[in-house]
Amino acid sequence: MEPIYLDHAATTPVHRDVVAAMYPMYENLYGNPSSIHSFGRKARQLIDEARHVMAKSIQADEKEIIFTSSGTEADNMAFIGTALANKEKGNHIITSVQEHHAVLHAAEYLEENGFNVTYLPVDHTGRISLEALQAALTDDTILVSIMFANNETGVIQPIKEIGNILNSHQAIFHTDAVQAYGLLPIDVTSLGIDLLSVSAHKINGPKGIGFLYVNKRVHVQPLAFGGEQERKRRPGTENVVSMIGFQKAVEIMLDQREKRNQTYAHYKELFINRLRALEVPFKINGAESQTLNSIVNISFPGTNVEALLTNFDLNGIAASSGSACTAGSVEPSHVLAAMFGQDEACTNSVRFSFGLNNTEENIVDAANRVAKIVNRIVK
Ligand code: PLP
Repeated sequence: MEPIYLDHAATTPVHRDVVAAMYPMYENLYGNPSSIHSFGRKARQLIDEARHVMAKSIQADEKEIIFTSSGTEADNMAFIGTALANKEKGNHIITSVQEHHAVLHAAEYLEENGFNVTYLPVDHTGRISLEALQAALTDDTILVSIMFANNETGVIQPIKEIGNILNSHQAIFHTDAVQAYGLLPIDVTSLGIDLLSVSAHKINGPKGIGFLYVNKRVHVQPLAFGGEQERKRRPGTENVVSMIGFQKAVEIMLDQREKRNQTYAHYKELFINRLRALEVPFKINGAESQTLNSIVNISFPGTNVEALLTNFDLNGIAASSGSACTAGSVEPSHVLAAMFGQDEACTNSVRFSFGLNNTEENIVDAANRVAKIVNRIVK
């Protein structure tokens, strides 16, 4: 049975052209970008080009891009680095309950170190309330961090409106755009974003590289100390080959974004319609009209996620619950719990996420296999 990968929100296959861009570099490009000889200068030039592409992709300036090892590191730097650099202005931070753990665990760390954190709730559609944000802001608030689109449900937050609210407040606005970046056009200036996290492996780039956009007016304290790389904000000898792969993935993404959006919207519809046609009882989690085209999170009443994922895997379907697997058991999703409370959707929901290796045929095939499994469990 042909395996079908429907877990592109977890990670994506590396694009063939990205591999082609990186491969020769491993053999030929070994100079240290900090060296002044020609080997070093060549590496430096390629980093500058990659940084230029990253910056342009969000309408930012090259000096505002800090390469990191991951989306996680970008989130940590945004959170902890901003808090430490701005602590004389206040010690209050606002985020939301449905953030990625790269943000939530950084927030907990700051709480342990004297900062106050407000966790905004979300409603059953998965969106925060702008009124609640407004009400939570105080003179002490130095940072607001709300993710662009959620990794479990794909639900998109009202980023422009948040940017507008914060326009007249001292708080720095961070958004984790790790899931959104590959599908939504982002202009950091018009959206009022000060800090933005991105990760290459979600857009068919290599794993282990990301970037943090830092508006030039914002000060972020470094979390590592050493050389002068990344303008001393993130020292360490650069991962040049991954930067080149990341650059290629961004170029391809920018070129194909619109088409990808249409294709994934079509796959989502096809998948859902096929489940309906096969009379599978299900419910979609999250506001459908406010969700990334690449993600659908589905609750299957009368089932549980562990049995579903095991059976899916046995039948070649790679999908995911958004939550962490610990010692073979799946913990209830904090995102769905935030949306529904103690509802059974928290324990019977699966995330399907579409990407480059999918086709109409394998989407229909996947829906057929899912329908067979779910109907066997519930009927
Ligand atoms: N933020 C979001 C929304 C994510 O989906 C992920 C990855 O799943 C991360 C952050 C972490 O990114 P990385 O895997 O590059 O550390």
